[in-house]
Amino acid sequence: MPNKTKSKNSQLSYQIVLSYKVSHNHPIKTFLIECRDKLNTAISIIWDNIEYPKENKPKLPKSNEFKRELRNKLLKDWNYASHYIDGIIKTAYSILESWASNYKRGYRTKTKPIVKRLFVRVKTTLIKYDKDDGIIRITIKPRKEYLTLNIKNEWFFDKVRNLTIGEIILKETEAFLTFKDNLSYSDKEIIVGVDSNLKSLDLFHPIEGWIRIDLSELHRIKEVYDRKIDFLKTLLKKYPLRALRKIKRLLERRRNRVNDYLHKLTIQLSRLFPDAVFIFEDLNKRKMYKNKHHNRRIDRANWSGIIEKLSYKSIVILVNPAYTSTTCPICGSKMESQEGQVVHCCNCMSSFNRQFVGCFNIFRRGFKRFKKLMGGLGVASTGAEVSLGKLMTPNPNVEAKLPVRKIEDFPLMVYKIDYNGKYLKCL
Ligand SMILES: [Zn+2]
Repeated sequence: MPNKTKSKNSQLSYQIVLSYKVSHNHPIKTFLIECRDKLNTAISIIWDNIEYPKENKPKLPKSNEFKRELRNKLLKDWNYASHYIDGIIKTAYSILESWASNYKRGYRTKTKPIVKRLFVRVKTTLIKYDKDDGIIRITIKPRKEYLTLNIKNEWFFDKVRNLTIGEIILKETEAFLTFKDNLSYSDKEIIVGVDSNLKSLDLFHPIEGWIRIDLSELHRIKEVYDRKIDFLKTLLKKYPLRALRKIKRLLERRRNRVNDYLHKLTIQLSRLFPDAVFIFEDLNKRKMYKNKHHNRRIDRANWSGIIEKLSYKSIVILVNPAYTSTTCPICGSKMESQEGQVVHCCNCMSSFNRQFVGCFNIFRRGFKRFKKLMGGLGVASTGAEVSLGKLMTPNPNVEAKLPVRKIEDFPLMVYKIDYNGKYLKCL
């Protein structure tokens, strides 16, 4: 999840960190190997100085004196910018701190962590960002060696050109750039409720109504890999090593394809509604409200992946998921499930599609939350103030093209991700 810091005063804003990957072909392998070796040295030195006041409570050495000495030791035979050593020390501490907290809880043994991957964190003091030309210059050796990245033609340049650049993670052929952006609630004009289902995302937009994004392609990708993996599992007894190796490879490929899909989906979703605050259910609370009649089929991996990736680009708010799919949008009574996707309210005798009810109730809950966050003041959320009656009438522009129908019968728009384009494709 990105860094979200809610400022203390009433000016509600989120600081989000946008991160983008670009490739480079600067030969830095030797440099990265030296960085990794220094990192392992740093870990070793700190490791040897860990104290155990109690057997299960490791205490990392943290005095300024120790840190100064550590820095001096690491700077020996170091031909690159000294700021890298500061980053390496920081990384070493964070690795050992996470080891220590796991060790305390019994998840790790007393073995020193060893870093194998080649990467280095580049502090902002080593980065120069020319916003006009889209040139990022990273100092490797002061006044001698620089790595230059040109992001002017990257798809994200317009988004980041006026932002502050943050830390960069350098790998052998790639660089992970970060930019800091402040998202302010008051810039947001619309609230969109999102219901995550197994094969679709269902959105409720106060002006557009019910919109669906088809995820069947994602479902298909997963199924293809799962079938292959299941088959290999049957071979595990006969050829354990070979089957295991293949399973590992397939799992990695599956993860990459899913990530790629979710990445594109969330980019295109944030482009479709650039001024929106997105509302999702907080499914971590779901098990508290288990409802045996409405065990909706959802894919938690999709849900958390979408939230994680979308919150790099937009504001995401989570709301309580209790009864979102069974509360009547009109009178608020509890509804009964009927055949197929239909839910019926015995109080006001209305029937709805369950997926519509889900995203609508999430929208409504998010709207309440949002009002609270804004201090209960009037909200500049176009359309969100529209009365329920109005929300239930079809958009007149759309009505002209479609046969007469109720808005809740089927989504007004169905989209899917466009693998080659910038925007969601209308189906
Ligand atoms: Zn009702």
